[in-house]
Amino acid sequence: EGLWRLSKLSVSVHTDPGKDFLGVSDGLLQQIAKVLEFPVASMLPPEAFSVVRKSFDARKVLKEPKFVYTVDVDVSKLLSLEPRTWDFISRLEPKVGLVEHMPHVRASGDLISIVQDCKNASDGALPLKNISHGSEGSYKYPTIRKPKVAVVGSGPSGLFASLVLAELGADVTLIERGQAVEQRGRDIGALVVRRILELESNFCFGEGGAGTWSDGKLVTRIGRNSDSVLADSVSGMTIGSAKVMNTLVHFGAPKNILVNGKPHLGTDKLIPLLRNFRQHLQRLGVTIKFRTRVDDLLIENAHVVGVKVSDSKDKSHQDFQKLGYDAVILAVGHSARDIYQMLLSHNMNLVPKDFAVGLRIEHPQELINSIQYSGLASKVHNGRGKVPVADYKVIKYVSSEDGDALVNLGATSRSCYSFCMCPGGQVVLTSTNPSELCINGMSFSRRSSKWANAALVVNVSTNDFDALNFHGPLAGVEFQREFEQRAATMGGGNFVVPVQTVTDFLENKLSATPVPPSSYRLGVKAANLHELFPTHITDTLKHSISMFDKELPGFISKAALLHGVETRTSSPLQIPRCNDTYESTSLKGLYPVGEGAGYAGGIVSAAVDGMYAGFAVAKNLDLFSGDI
Ligand code: FAD
Repeated sequence: EGLWRLSKLSVSVHTDPGKDFLGVSDGLLQQIAKVLEFPVASMLPPEAFSVVRKSFDARKVLKEPKFVYTVDVDVSKLLSLEPRTWDFISRLEPKVGLVEHMPHVRASGDLISIVQDCKNASDGALPLKNISHGSEGSYKYPTIRKPKVAVVGSGPSGLFASLVLAELGADVTLIERGQAVEQRGRDIGALVVRRILELESNFCFGEGGAGTWSDGKLVTRIGRNSDSVLADSVSGMTIGSAKVMNTLVHFGAPKNILVNGKPHLGTDKLIPLLRNFRQHLQRLGVTIKFRTRVDDLLIENAHVVGVKVSDSKDKSHQDFQKLGYDAVILAVGHSARDIYQMLLSHNMNLVPKDFAVGLRIEHPQELINSIQYSGLASKVHNGRGKVPVADYKVIKYVSSEDGDALVNLGATSRSCYSFCMCPGGQVVLTSTNPSELCINGMSFSRRSSKWANAALVVNVSTNDFDALNFHGPLAGVEFQREFEQRAATMGGGNFVVPVQTVTDFLENKLSATPVPPSSYRLGVKAANLHELFPTHITDTLKHSISMFDKELPGFISKAALLHGVETRTSSPLQIPRCNDTYESTSLKGLYPVGEGAGYAGGIVSAAVDGMYAGFAVAKNLDLFSGDI
């Protein structure tokens, strides 16, 4: 009866049609028949089964890599079988980790339909609210109108907050310092080809936020991308990362992101998706102001009542406007250092937090394919083959047993780990200021470039900031800036990136020129990267890289090039907010969300945070009365 879920069904690479096929193949049907103890696989109707997850498992402990499936069985569709075979259905029983009975089909729609359902279901929701502030201040509100909300920043958190609020009936203005994706693409082109860094339209700033020109990995550490994890209730509906994923599909992401074990989009898929997202917001009546930077908050009686904005191309800051709002959502990402400074000027509570810094390593993709897949590496075919372009994830915890010097400055242990691994990608410049140099990685959906890059980063905390004499709420920002400036100097300017082969880094010697080729388009220069970070960070990197090579033999290679510097792995501070209302603990009417506020890391978690914040703000404005 109902729905059954079968997990851990494995199909060999030779039998499986390949990574892009998400249907029910003969090989999969064989495995299903085995688990169901049904004697003749070919008699099973494929339409009774739907693939809900497909992953590629190439762990070294396996005899050979394989595809691993999770499949749902709709028992009613098995009734087309001959009645004498029905017996096996009655024998179906749960088996731990393999077979699960799912009496209730979980709701898994996109956010737009869910908000509509919430609106229809919750009696208390008032799309039009009578708000009277009764204040005689400089911002007068009419007595009956929609609540006005400013969302600052059009990254994933700002977009999802805007979507929820606009769907629930708020009058939303989305304010973005950067350009719409079309112009942003031209600005990024000018950076990569002509070294022109537009301060307000680059790899960090502009429509879609920091993740637009990225690998578009949609995995999140806040839980699997499924309904069963992160299943919270809003008027009886489930929301969470699955809602974000469904919404991305609504706006044009390929459906395979809902099934793929390691979903990713790539820049070419993100750009049209963002355009569709924008058009939907505009149809809902959202005013979108690109090229408009929020410079300050307007505060009355310890309550934010609006923002001061200026044309982000106008360097003089003379031509500004004051705009009144009932609530301001701050979704500015972690590169808006001017905003942190501005918040401090209002005596807001900002708390430094741990993050990680390091170097980005780049290998030829073929090398990573052969390390991970051995004989199967030939089936990658630059992203067009049967198996996915190989990636890796490595982590090493170091303790005093590995050397006291590695865990100094009050740390009992440190970790070094790979971060934002981009298979078939390229290293890109994520600086927002020409005197600072920092990098990250991006790719296109096929992941077909010759290169595999990943950051190798070491966690740092306030003790590390103190040791360099950086104190106070912005100590982490100063710490980042210090290494970004050192990297810019080591590269010799003009966005040239300092590099060292991993073998030379381990031996602490300058690499001979010419250094191995790099995907980074603005040029690389041999430098001794030991001169970049304090010794304990360099030593932790060295020690961990040697360990990574044991796990991935060949990782230490003369062809592998370390690039400096990776500093913006997550926010260097948190802007404290109330758990339930999402409102800042120091300023009423201000809602800090997403990565820049220290509540998310990555595209999906930022989007989820924005979505919850949208509901919370709607609730505070009496637009919504469900549970969040
Ligand atoms: P952001 O995306 O940073 O958006 C903030 C927005 O606010 C920006 O558009 C900015 O222009 C705007 N803004 C800032 N200040 C102001 C102001 N004063 N006025 C108006 N607007 C302002 N994550 C993944 O999960 N997968 C990946 O593959 C991945 N790859 C990445 C690759 C690169 C090159 C980079 C840079 C990041 C990558 N990330 C990836 C991280 C991911 O992009 C971020 O975690 C995510 O975008 C954070 O979302 P957010 O909405 O909190 O902030």
